[in-house]
Amino acid sequence: MTRRFIAGAVCPRCGEMDKLMVDSETDERECVRCGYSDQRPREAPSELRTRVNRPARRVEAETETVTLIDPAAGTDKPGRS
Ligand SMILES: [Zn+2]
Repeated sequence: MTRRFIAGAVCPRCGEMDKLMVDSETDERECVRCGYSDQRPREAPSELRTRVNRPARRVEAETETVTLIDPAAGTDKPGRS
């Protein structure tokens, strides 16, 4: 187990800088001041999931727009002779 201080890292709990240590084997961060510990995932999947969600919303919005246009065209102009 090799633990090193992370230079310039700020603890998310107590906000103290240079108090976070990282375990080189498990990638677990630990604050020596408040005892905060956090396991850092190797890949950052949370950020990727957020990005995937955004385009999904776009598709939903597009579908909604199309759905709105269809009934409006038939109701607003009933007899277009
Ligand atoms: Zn802390």
